[in-house]
Amino acid sequence: MRRVRHELGCKDKVVVVTGAARGIGKEIAAQFVLAGARVCVADVDGAAAQATAAEIGAADFVMPLALDVTDEEQVNAGMRAVAERFGALDVLISNAGTQHIAAIVDLQFAQWKRLLAVHLDGAFLTTRACMRHMIARGAGGSIIYMGSVHSHLASPLKAPYATAKHGLLGLARTVAKEGAPHGIRSNLVCPGFVRTALVDAQIAPQAAALRLAETQVIHDVLLKDTVDGQFTTTAEVAQVTVFLASFPTNALTGQSIVVSHGWHMD
Ligand code: NAD
Repeated sequence: MRRVRHELGCKDKVVVVTGAARGIGKEIAAQFVLAGARVCVADVDGAAAQATAAEIGAADFVMPLALDVTDEEQVNAGMRAVAERFGALDVLISNAGTQHIAAIVDLQFAQWKRLLAVHLDGAFLTTRACMRHMIARGAGGSIIYMGSVHSHLASPLKAPYATAKHGLLGLARTVAKEGAPHGIRSNLVCPGFVRTALVDAQIAPQAAALRLAETQVIHDVLLKDTVDGQFTTTAEVAQVTVFLASFPTNALTGQSIVVSHGWHMD
């Protein structure tokens, strides 16, 4: 059998990471810089995006972008600016997200719509803009969505989040099929709980709603079903994301990779 050596790497790739000013997105952006990529740090908080971009790499390789992923014009203009600045657009990491903890009976319609807009409208708009650039250039690409264990299961008080994260699985699979003729792969990364601002902000409301101490929420609710009682780290999620973006063939497309210390086994 003749063995073919595929390059596994992101050197010189142009990568857009949304929601990259802090948390998981920031670590993903930093890991791509270490892998030799040119990276756009896109975030609705433009000042924070600028600070993160300056922190993780030299201006030649890292571009900050103030971008609300729910705004169609901003997304189209932003992706165009990245393609013009770096001459390509190879990888999209659709990571921007928010959380809202409430029982369905207490949830405002506006809160439901806002959360779905950030996760789903944002994923759609950035995907469409990036796919158009990738197809026009003819060099393929990789689109990775930040799903969650909540792409596969539900928890009380998280109806819009679980709904949106399940929806991303459908989008990733559809992009895998529509993208294949153009060399575009698409996958979903599904972290367990990662100790970021998004998670910190949900501990107190869950403690109140479930009448538990905050430490009980962490150990008996959030991490209860992991194999080791450990949070997943931003570095672990970022490593898997860089691996998926680097993977050279369609053997990995339309997949959901759960990164959760064994909380959910798919
Ligand atoms: P975070 O709150 O620390 O960071 C989210 C970032 O997204 C922020 O910088 C924020 O400004 C940005 N953002 C929010 N709305 C935006 C918009 N409309 N346009 C552009 N940027 C916007 O959260 P995180 O924990 O780093 O989460 C990142 C992603 O990972 C989210 O999609 C989240 O659902 C997912 N996730 C997080 C966990 C976890 O435990 N932290 C687990 C699974 C999945």
